[in-house]
Amino acid sequence: MRGKTDNGRRWYQEIEPELAQILVREGAAVVVNRTTIRRLYSNKEFRQLILTRDNYTCRFCGNYGDTIDHELPRAKGGHTTPANCVCACYECNQLKANRDVDEFMRMLD
Ligand SMILES: [Zn+2]
Repeated sequence: MRGKTDNGRRWYQEIEPELAQILVREGAAVVVNRTTIRRLYSNKEFRQLILTRDNYTCRFCGNYGDTIDHELPRAKGGHTTPANCVCACYECNQLKANRDVDEFMRMLD
């Protein structure tokens, strides 16, 4: 996988084909050729993308949010992709931690 960091440096990292498929399917990367995919966003760009897409509104409580939460936590195999990430406020993000969305919603009820 190829990409660029926030300060414009190029990087290259070997990843599993399964992971490459997920990153492409979930909108985080595009296929360059049979052996290479390219990450579409640097960390900063990715953050910006999710926050503006969700209008800086917490997905869980509707308040202002400026953090990124993984719907399926990374600890449970979730990836940093547009499909798996939502805007969250600081409190919800802390509270949710490594729970998945269903668990967290039950906890709020
Ligand atoms: Zn919230």
